[in-house]
Amino acid sequence: MIPDSNDCSIPIATAFYPSLSLLNHSCDPNIQIIFKNGIECFVRSNRTIRSNEQIFNCYGINYRSADYKQRQQLLSDQYFFHCKCQICKNESKKFEKRQNK
Ligand SMILES: [Zn+2]
Repeated sequence: MIPDSNDCSIPIATAFYPSLSLLNHSCDPNIQIIFKNGIECFVRSNRTIRSNEQIFNCYGINYRSADYKQRQQLLSDQYFFHCKCQICKNESKKFEKRQNK
């Protein structure tokens, strides 16, 4: 990933990091992964993480960059799951209400 001027990342390749692959996704992650020198990466918290709180990564699309429907579609297409993070739980209720009108 290469940071762009809007503080987002532009994918240029895929790599496998066994430790990072253990992290689950959230559309509101509590960490940020920083890649350095093309081979090293660091995990940095972006807010306080309590002792029993799960560490969440973002698999490429978060609630700031896409709406609920776009996120669900991308995560389903690329990772074959339906996101049920706290943000998505809240937004799914709103989305379902809009769909039922
Ligand atoms: Zn989500």
